[in-house]
Amino acid sequence: MNHFDTIIIGGGPAGMMAAISSSFYGQKTLLLEKNKRLGKKLAGTGGGRCNVTNNGNLDDLMAGIPGNGRFLYSVFSQFDNHDIINFFTENGVKLKVEDHGRVFPATDKSRTIIEALEKKIAELGGTVITNTEIVSVKKSDDLFTVRSSDQTWTCQKLIVTTGGKSYPSTGSTGFGHDIARHFKHTVTDLEAAESPLLTDFPHKALQGISLDDVTLSYGKHVITHDLLFTHFGLSGPAALRLSSFVKGGETIFLDVLPQMSQQDLADFLEENREKSLKNCLKILLPERMADFFAQTFPEKVKQLNLIEKEALIKQIKELAIPVTGKMSLAKSFVTKGGVSLKEINPKTLESKLVPGLHFAGEVLDINAHTGGFNITSALCTGWVAGSLHYMSDGPYLSIQVKQKE
Ligand SMILES: Cc1cc2nc3c(=O)[nH]c(=O)nc-3n(C[C@H](O)[C@H](O)[C@H](O)COP(=O)(O)OP(=O)(O)OC[C@H]3O[C@@H](n4cnc5c(N)ncnc54)[C@H](O)[C@@H]3O)c2cc1C
Repeated sequence: MNHFDTIIIGGGPAGMMAAISSSFYGQKTLLLEKNKRLGKKLAGTGGGRCNVTNNGNLDDLMAGIPGNGRFLYSVFSQFDNHDIINFFTENGVKLKVEDHGRVFPATDKSRTIIEALEKKIAELGGTVITNTEIVSVKKSDDLFTVRSSDQTWTCQKLIVTTGGKSYPSTGSTGFGHDIARHFKHTVTDLEAAESPLLTDFPHKALQGISLDDVTLSYGKHVITHDLLFTHFGLSGPAALRLSSFVKGGETIFLDVLPQMSQQDLADFLEENREKSLKNCLKILLPERMADFFAQTFPEKVKQLNLIEKEALIKQIKELAIPVTGKMSLAKSFVTKGGVSLKEINPKTLESKLVPGLHFAGEVLDINAHTGGFNITSALCTGWVAGSLHYMSDGPYLSIQVKQKE
C-alpha cells in the first residue's frame, strides 16, 4: 500500500528528525532519500565527526543564526538544542562539548549520530527508502502524489527537507525550491554563505596551518575564532563568518595573537632579546608561522632596530591580507536564501498557501554559522514540522512537547 499519513522528501538531519517526530505522533511515515545512505552532508560536518549541535543558550543560538534566526523562536520553544542533547543522550549516544560550545559524539564518528537517528525511526515504525530520487510532487483534493522514476506514493502531509544548494554532491541540488515554486511559494535569492575566502597571500607559505582563536577583521566586523590556511586562501570559522561581509577586492586584517597587546609583544621581545627571532616567536606561534614572520628580519631579536620591531609587531597584530574572492555557492558550506518565511507558519512550519505542505531545514530562508547552528536549525525545524499541531479557532496551536520553564 503506497499511502502514508506523512511523506518526507530528503534524509538529512531535518528529514530524519521529521520522520522521528511524525512517527512519534503516531503518523504512518515514509522518509525518501536519493542517496544510498541517509545524512551524507551531516556525516561530513565537524571534519567528519558530526558537529551535532551547540550547547549555548537562546542568545547564543540567535547570534549563531544570523540569517533569520528570529523566525525560530517558536520552533525553539517546542524543541531546542538542549532537547537535541537530551534526545541523543536518552538514545544511548554519549556526547562531548568542545570549544565554542560545539557538541560532538564522544566516538568522534558521524556514524554514531546517523545510526542513532536511523534506529529511532525504525523503533517508532517509520519507513525509510533510500536510493530513490523524487522527481515530481502534485496535490489534488487533499492528497499529495509523490513520484520517483518508477514508483508513486500518496500522503495527506508532505514535508520537504531537501536542503539548500551548497555541496550538491551530497544530494542537496535545490529540488525543494522547485517544489516550493510549483506550489507558488516565493524562493528568495540563493547565495553562498559561510564561504572560504580566496587570497593570493599568504597561503602558499602557510598552507595547512590552523590557528585557534585569532582575530580576523574587516572594518567594524571583528571575528575571533579558529582559522585555517589552505591552498586557495583562508577557511575555518573565522574566515567563514567574515565571508558575509566581503566579496573580493577588500583587504582584511589578521591578528594572530589577539590576547597580547602591542606593548605585551614589545616586552616579550625585550625579555627574549638574546634568542634568535625564530626561536623567540616559536614560543608564541606554530613553527611555520614563526618562520613566516621572522623571514624578512635580522636573525637575532637584539639586532632589530626600533622601526623593525614596530614593523614586526604590526605584522603579527595586523597582517594585511587582500581578498581576491570567495568560493561559489556550490563550494560554500551553507546556502543563504530559500523558501520565504513570510509564507510559512512559524509555529508549525506549514505553508500558508498549501495546507498540509511543510518545509524544514536548509531549504528554508535560514542560514547559520558552522559550529552546530545549522544542524540545530535543521533538527529542531525537522522535529516541529513532523509534530502534530491541532486547530483551535483560527491559527494553529502547537502542542508543547514538554513543559518549558
Ligand atoms: C562541508 C560542510 C561542513 C559543514 N559543517 C557544519 C558544521 O560544523 N555545523 C553546522 O551547523 N553546519 C554545518 N554545515 C551545514 C549543515 O551540514 C547543513 O546546514 C545541514 O546538513 C542541512 O540539513 P538539511 O537536512 O536541511 O539538508 P541536507 O543535510 O542537505 O539534506 C538534504 C537531503 O535531501 C536529499 N534530497 C535532495 N533532493 C532530493 C530528491 N529529489 N529526492 C530525494 N532526496 C533528495 C539529499 O540527498 C540530502 O540527503 C556544513 C556543511 C558542509 C557542506
